[in-house]
Amino acid sequence: MSGEPASILTLNGGSSSIRLAVFGGERFSRRLWSGRIERIGLPDSSFTVKGAGERTGFTRSVSAPCHTDAIHLILDWILEGRDSLNLRAVAHRVVHGGPKYSAARRIDSEMIRTLRELTPFDPQHLPQEIELIETCQQRFPDLPQIACFDTDFHRGMPRVAQLLPIPRQYFREGVRRYGFHGLSYRFLLEELARSGGSDAARGRVILAHLGNGASLAAVRNGEPIDTSMGFTPAAGVPMSTRSGDLDPGLVGYFAQTARMDPRGFNEMVNSRSGLLGISETSSDIRDLLERAPTDERAADAVEMFCYGVKKTIGAFAAALGGLDRLVFSAGIGENAPEIRRRVCEGLEFFGIRLDDRRNRTGEAIISADGSRVAVHVIRTDEELMMAKIVGEILEPRENA
Ligand code: ADP
Repeated sequence: MSGEPASILTLNGGSSSIRLAVFGGERFSRRLWSGRIERIGLPDSSFTVKGAGERTGFTRSVSAPCHTDAIHLILDWILEGRDSLNLRAVAHRVVHGGPKYSAARRIDSEMIRTLRELTPFDPQHLPQEIELIETCQQRFPDLPQIACFDTDFHRGMPRVAQLLPIPRQYFREGVRRYGFHGLSYRFLLEELARSGGSDAARGRVILAHLGNGASLAAVRNGEPIDTSMGFTPAAGVPMSTRSGDLDPGLVGYFAQTARMDPRGFNEMVNSRSGLLGISETSSDIRDLLERAPTDERAADAVEMFCYGVKKTIGAFAAALGGLDRLVFSAGIGENAPEIRRRVCEGLEFFGIRLDDRRNRTGEAIISADGSRVAVHVIRTDEELMMAKIVGEILEPRENA
């Protein structure tokens, strides 16, 4: 047993990347390392790791034809420094907990079996996530592996927000609105409370997590009221490559006219739609903002994204009976003032007024003095949230 301070490894597997972070310090609240393997499955995969406080870290070209190869590379790196890291647990972000799992918990063989059965709930993420967990179990059989579910935050939504308007029998079978980005939403609410006093996270709040995957959540007094994603993360606002909400009649139309089977339809709405589908050139909002003045397709894509987010804010403000705070977060929400401006434009009647300078410089509060709704920009940290949750499982606070 190493005498070094204990730490936790967090793993967050995406479709073509795996992010890692190591947290130590008091209640695992200090990030020691972060890194990622990108472009898994492509010839030019890369592995980057950076220590806290380091400017650059290292980047290596690696061979990672699949997720299992990628995770072995990460675990090799961990094992090289294992004594000094003194790992106590591995936390896995699991996107879908289905009807059975929501709160974070230790992974056992029964959970793996159940997650495998749940694969139809989330064929885009669960197979890779199970692969990551099993590889970690083989390499670190003595370490607890803990699953943190992205669906957890929304678990307490009112039933009316969970029901999908299809025959009720499916609801009983677990076909309902789950919602995702829950680790991010939990983090944002904690940050609101930390930075703005305990009242800041109360009242009527809309959280907008706008990254490649984008969703919004309506929260009243800390309780989830509604969210834009649904049974899968493909629902809600248009995203980088996902369509968001669609007319269900399209399934039959494409089956008849284009002989599109379910697999083809899934592939289209998850990988070839949204910003990429409409612009025909890029899924990255930076490229599209640059091209918009000269390319109508890029301009349409940006407009469609901002319009979708704005409409959802309107719907959620109605669900909440008004609005006290709006929070922008994730890659686009944190870094794209032009998108924030366009989303908020025309919402003055709601009491949303941005301060141009604060918005451009990305201050923590970007609303104008006197704006009835406070508009925040908060840098989300899903990995830190996972480390905190796992810390709580390993060392529960008394009376917590
Ligand atoms: P995810 O975690 O869902 O893959 P991110 O939260 O990293 O996605 O967000 C990715 C998005 O953020 C991309 O569309 C990218 O264009 C946008 N983004 C990242 N940095 C900037 C920036 N500096 N300015 C504008 N957009 C940015």
